[in-house]
Amino acid sequence: MANNLLRHHAKEFQKNRKRLRQFITRNEDTISEKDAPLLADAEKTAWEKVNCLDCANCCKVMTPTYTKADIERISTYLKMTPTEFKKKWLVYERESRSWVNKSRPCQFLDLKTNKCTIYEVRPADCAGFPHLQKRPFKDYFYLHKQNIEYCPATMEMVKKFEELKKQQKKA
Ligand code: SF4
Ligand code: SF4
Repeated sequence: MANNLLRHHAKEFQKNRKRLRQFITRNEDTISEKDAPLLADAEKTAWEKVNCLDCANCCKVMTPTYTKADIERISTYLKMTPTEFKKKWLVYERESRSWVNKSRPCQFLDLKTNKCTIYEVRPADCAGFPHLQKRPFKDYFYLHKQNIEYCPATMEMVKKFEELKKQQKKA
């Protein structure tokens, strides 16, 4: 199931990427609260099609950024000091000025179940991903240009939103 989902996603991404990225570019400056009902419908459709437990691709190929609060919370949960935690698993990325994972897949992903082993205390970045309904939309919509490559739910949401916008124009 998991492999099927990601294989299907890879094909769909190749087929749709140019058009969807252009669609995002055309809308990233004007997207607003007026689009909220369509975005909510599009997100609902995406989650009807995609189950994160069949995927976990974000945990396999991307890294979250860890805030100071994340590092303190997770290291306490793991009974480590923040320094030990950073030394064992993280690296400081100068470009983004963030702590990120040293390796991928994420060390906290259970590859058999696709579940996060620190789910209750996971980084805020993970809890918020894939930012489909984050406000203001303008601050997050452009991120989907990158995320449609890795996240099947994001691609399904953008595809449906594009379809709904077309219908809205015709009405
Ligand atoms: S901390 Fe958990 S949710 Fe975040 S990337 Fe790692 S496995 Fe995934
Ligand atoms: S958020 Fe996206 S990439 Fe991550 S598990 Fe869910 S569908 Fe897959």
